[in-house]
Amino acid sequence: MANEANTKLKPLKQLGFRLNLVLLSVLSFYILTTGYSLLTLREQSQEFDALSSAYFDRAMHAAELSREAEVIASDTLVNMLNQDYDERYIQSPTIGLPEQNKNNASNDSFERSFEKIRKQLTANTPQEQVLIEKIDRLKKPYFNTIRTLNNYLIEKRKITQAQRNIEYHLLNLQKEIYLIPQIPEHEKSLIDELIKAINLSVLTLHSTTFHQLITQMNGISAFISNIAYQDNLTPFERKNIILISKLSQQVFTTTLKQQMQHSATLTAVNTTRTEAKKLSNACYKLYQLLKQSTQKASSEHKAFISKVMLKIGLFSIIFLLLTGVAYWFIHYYLIRRLNRLNRVMLEHVKGVKTDVPQSGNDEIAMMGRAFSIFVEATNKAQQDSLEAQKRTEEANQKLTQLNQSLKKLSHTDELTQMANRRHFFHELTSMWQLACDKQINMSIIMLDLDWFKSFNDFYGHQAGDQCLFQVAQLILTEVKNTQGIAARYGGEEFIILLPYFDLDQAVLFAKGLQDKLNEEKIKHHKSPQKYITLSQGVTSHMPKEGDKFDHLIHLADQALYKAKNNGRNQIVAQDNTENVSLRTSLS
Ligand code: GH3
Ligand code: MG
Ligand code: MG
Repeated sequence: MANEANTKLKPLKQLGFRLNLVLLSVLSFYILTTGYSLLTLREQSQEFDALSSAYFDRAMHAAELSREAEVIASDTLVNMLNQDYDERYIQSPTIGLPEQNKNNASNDSFERSFEKIRKQLTANTPQEQVLIEKIDRLKKPYFNTIRTLNNYLIEKRKITQAQRNIEYHLLNLQKEIYLIPQIPEHEKSLIDELIKAINLSVLTLHSTTFHQLITQMNGISAFISNIAYQDNLTPFERKNIILISKLSQQVFTTTLKQQMQHSATLTAVNTTRTEAKKLSNACYKLYQLLKQSTQKASSEHKAFISKVMLKIGLFSIIFLLLTGVAYWFIHYYLIRRLNRLNRVMLEHVKGVKTDVPQSGNDEIAMMGRAFSIFVEATNKAQQDSLEAQKRTEEANQKLTQLNQSLKKLSHTDELTQMANRRHFFHELTSMWQLACDKQINMSIIMLDLDWFKSFNDFYGHQAGDQCLFQVAQLILTEVKNTQGIAARYGGEEFIILLPYFDLDQAVLFAKGLQDKLNEEKIKHHKSPQKYITLSQGVTSHMPKEGDKFDHLIHLADQALYKAKNNGRNQIVAQDNTENVSLRTSLS
């Protein structure tokens, strides 16, 4: 039962299963750790994306700043151009202040918009800080020039307004002159001169160079001089000449002012453009710097992620390879060998002698060697035990033989090789009881060689021994066919027990024996018959409970005694009733 239990282990109790569980736990732990690492990496990546987005926003703010600077400059120029356009094509004296306010308002909104974007920009590096400071430094003169330009434009507009007023007066005057109903012939040339002076004044208002202004002013002066020195001027004409002179003076002053203001505005525009360029450049550089740092940070992060992923990948491959090697090692070097050792042990238990694996120098090999030593010791013990058992069996056999020979010796008479007297009585005792129980006849014959002393004396003791042996063999041969027993009773006397023989049968038996001896013709020179003869006393009895066989022997002995006394070489039969006796004698 124990062996079966060992061979049919539950999976949970198997060493291989447990080791696989350990490997599986390590693998699960690794997968969890790697998963956690990848998750962390993903979170970091997301954080970096946010950071990168912030970087990108900063770069965009810088780009916006650059754009704002450009837009402000171009808008200012557009304003200026619009103003020039108005001046040339919109001859309305009402156009004026609302436009100025609009310019100021848009200028402030530009600055606010620029400041708003600027405030969103913070420096992360000293390099960025330098550029931002530069932007802050440049933005003040820039906006100042914008303001100056704007003021110039306002001033220019005022002057333009003044010019328009003068032009208006001049044109009104011209209308008045045209409306004079009847102009005398001699005055027509005078009026023409007046008209020419007015026209030239209007034209002068739009002169763009100082030289043109001076030339035109001289022309006006010439017209006025031509008229003013006439003698026959009407008061109306004189008044108008004075008015034209006055207006031409105003034309000169305002046009000169306008030209100077235009020149200053152009200078301001150039300055504005230069400052705008500087600011835009600085903003663009900051944009470039931030873009570069964004790209650099992005590529560094990508490189970092790739590096970490590569490391995780490599580590995973190494770890999986090591796990595979560990799995193979455990199965090849531990489980397989343990299973083999276990199988071999079980086969040995079942009696199949297979080779015990002993190669290697680890604990399993030591177990194998220990088991091998154990097997050798067991085999030797078994062999010793078998040999000891064999030796014991041999000894027992010898002892039995010895006992048998001893028993035989103790039962046998050495000289005649027939039962001795002790064995005879032993057999007689058991037979007697049987005869008592089953009412069986028991006959006893007592035999004695006749004249044997003289035989010995004549032929020698050795010959006497020979003769005793020969007679004994003859008796044994005769008794063999009966269920009786013959024994040497002592000296040259024998005794025979014949169960189931009644007295007659016993006498008959004794007679047959006598005949056989006679046939032998053992020479006995000193005997009257010249041959060895026997005297026999025969008795028989069916014993009953309480009867003693001693008595029967005694009766046989008595009969023998009688046979001797009667002359020997005869059989005397006597039953247990001592009165009745049967004597048989042989001559
Ligand atoms: P009887 O006819 O009256 O029996 O005369 P016997 O001489 O046979 O009887 P006795 O008792 O006088 O002598 C017996 C002799 O038997 C004496 C002895 O020498 C001989 N005898 C007894 N035992 C042995 C023996 O073992 N071997 C030999 N050779 N002779 C023996
Ligand atoms: Mg005798
Ligand atoms: Mg005798």
